Amino acid sequence: MRTVFIPCMNCGKQQTNNHSFWFVCNTCGFRICLSCLNHQKGPHGGQGRKCGQCTFGFMDGPKKLK
Ligand SMILES: [Zn+2]
Ligand SMILES: [Zn+2]
Repeated sequence: MRTVFIPCMNCGKQQTNNHSFWFVCNTCGFRICLSCLNHQKGPHGGQGRKCGQCTFGFMDGPKKLK
């Protein structure tokens, strides 16, 4: 698998796609790194597994991106 760098959508820090600690919202696709899980910026006050960007989203992970 090719390694590419992907920016965290919360803090902007770049991680590789095979970094195994991504969390991705199952509703809006918001993608964050592990260290942002409890520090999400967003209109819906994301904390932990609750997505900060949408109303009912759940952060799925940790997982690698394809
Ligand atoms: Zn981050
Ligand atoms: Zn979401």
